[in-house]
Amino acid sequence: MQKGNISVQTENIFPIIKKFLYSDQEIFLRELVSNATDATSKLVTLARKGEAKGDYSDKTIDIMIDQEAGTLTIRDRGIGMTEEEVKKYLNQVALSSAQDFVDKYQDDASIIGHFGLGFYSAFMVADKVEVVTKSYQDDATAVRWICEGDPSYEIGEAERDMQGTDVILHIGEDSKQYLESDEIEGLLMKYCRFLPYPIRFGTKTETTYEEVEEVAEGEEAPEPKKIETEVDNIINNTDPLWKKAPAELTDEDYKDFYRELYPMGEPPMFWIHLNIDYPFHLTGILYFPKVSGKLELQRNKIQLYSNQVYVTDNVSDIVPEFLTLLHGVIDSPDIPLNVSRSYLQADTNVKKITGYITKKVAEKLNSLFKEDRKAYEEKWPDLGVFVKYGMVSDDKFYDRAKKFALVENTEDKFFTIEEYRERIKENQTDKYDRLVAIYTADVDRQHTLVEAARARGLDVLKFEHAIDAPTIQSLEQKEDKMTFVRVDSATPDQLVQKDEEKENLLSEEERETVTILFSGVVDNTGSVEVKPLDVQDAPVQIVRNEFMRRMKEMQMMQGMNTDMFPDSYQVVVNANNPLVKERLLDVEDEATRSENAKYLYQLAKLSQQMLSGAELKAFIERSMKMM
Ligand code: ADP
Repeated sequence: MQKGNISVQTENIFPIIKKFLYSDQEIFLRELVSNATDATSKLVTLARKGEAKGDYSDKTIDIMIDQEAGTLTIRDRGIGMTEEEVKKYLNQVALSSAQDFVDKYQDDASIIGHFGLGFYSAFMVADKVEVVTKSYQDDATAVRWICEGDPSYEIGEAERDMQGTDVILHIGEDSKQYLESDEIEGLLMKYCRFLPYPIRFGTKTETTYEEVEEVAEGEEAPEPKKIETEVDNIINNTDPLWKKAPAELTDEDYKDFYRELYPMGEPPMFWIHLNIDYPFHLTGILYFPKVSGKLELQRNKIQLYSNQVYVTDNVSDIVPEFLTLLHGVIDSPDIPLNVSRSYLQADTNVKKITGYITKKVAEKLNSLFKEDRKAYEEKWPDLGVFVKYGMVSDDKFYDRAKKFALVENTEDKFFTIEEYRERIKENQTDKYDRLVAIYTADVDRQHTLVEAARARGLDVLKFEHAIDAPTIQSLEQKEDKMTFVRVDSATPDQLVQKDEEKENLLSEEERETVTILFSGVVDNTGSVEVKPLDVQDAPVQIVRNEFMRRMKEMQMMQGMNTDMFPDSYQVVVNANNPLVKERLLDVEDEATRSENAKYLYQLAKLSQQMLSGAELKAFIERSMKMM
């Protein structure tokens, strides 16, 4: 054996690798299996060009644990290395890249899980690394290289028939878990599930049953015989769906693959197959999961691969924020993985990728909408969440989504924004020439109000999801002269403000009396106004100023103290409702008058489900007495 020293400045690199990167130790396996994959790819390329002659049909990469020896071996049948190459690549190239890496990321060890540092990550878990390798070249001899995690190494001859490389890790005292097969199998499943060459991890027992012979009627069939066979335990699917041509695939294929990725998940709604060659390479499949009803949306379900090697499931720098709600895989060798976060965010390729994915998603949604509107509408409860989220957070997407974003009214009819503008133009343009869209945040709770609005020929939209409040804001900002008011923001006749004056059946004096009467009855957060509404409108109504309510909601969303904005509302008494005259003004007895006013006020609260338990009880008791 020959001895040598790797390089002077390396004295401190091994301890750094070991200590610093402790939390992401496990990536050593991904790095070494990736190297094995690269070595295999290189040989495949040479063989294709006729530059390497031999039988290279077996491309299996083996991962082997030897408990007794305390070693973990990664064996490939790839290109191998000559002695010169070992010296060059392992002593110089690998080391200098590791050195670079550590220099750059000493302060940011957290990102290493994404980027790795190649061959030298082996020293995160091994006290001693042994490499036995033989080049594919005709006259090559095998070489053994040993390094004990300090700058000195040994190199010499070795025995080996087959071309390729064994990297033998003598696992250190602190890393014994990497000699456990469950641990290794778990890591292989995480990082190597879709590598292009078979990854074999020992064998596994497969159980099948012998076919049972037909028996005559009445006779009992014998127990089928169990057959157990030892078969290779191949970890990966070497030909994942995203690498295939979309034209060859059926819906079932896509659903099966979804199940492979998320065995527990409900089937997806639909998917987009990404495939781009220029100006960067990217393939992948993005699935739209079902989300309706779930307010807690699951993020970080998209897996990022680089040439089929798993990198991370945190894709927030590559995929626009709102699309992190999607599931699936993205595979791109062009996403720079060996650079820092801030660089990634500024990288023009990454920006293009983001733009491309957004565009693709918009195109897909548009084509679904155009091809089968009915099916699209049925999916809207799930889909709408993505689309609205996208419209709120991404201006470009808003412009694209305008074509296929829908609003739904209380008759369960769907409209695009343009269609809806057209629908309400006639009836719901106010005196300031603005289109007024009326909505409810809860069809059930606001039933009375919705009905009152509809009785006036007004259309009411459903905006019931958490994403709807910001969506309304966006729509108001982007849409020309369009405003949104909630159905409880004004009395039905005032939702769309017009210029008409209504006849008032009460004198000013009478109005004054009614105001005083109610002021003594309403909770202190309410203020009273006596106004002429339609005769058939409720005698007392409760309204909340749209602007004030939104301010308050926004502050609540931001977790701010909302004491400054109490739930303020206004009590509107309908001067023209006959009950006001009959039950209040015409009643002589002060106490009865006040009682009646209270009752009418509680009736208004009841219709908006605002009564407390005690109030409700009192209300019911009083109603019973009247019967
Ligand atoms: P990288 O893979 O990023 O180039 P590494 O530190 O992982 O950096 O490896 C350094 C070099 O060592 C590789 O470029 C390759 O030439 C060589 N190498 C590493 N592992 C193998 C292997 N299993 N078979 C052949 N060559 C290898």
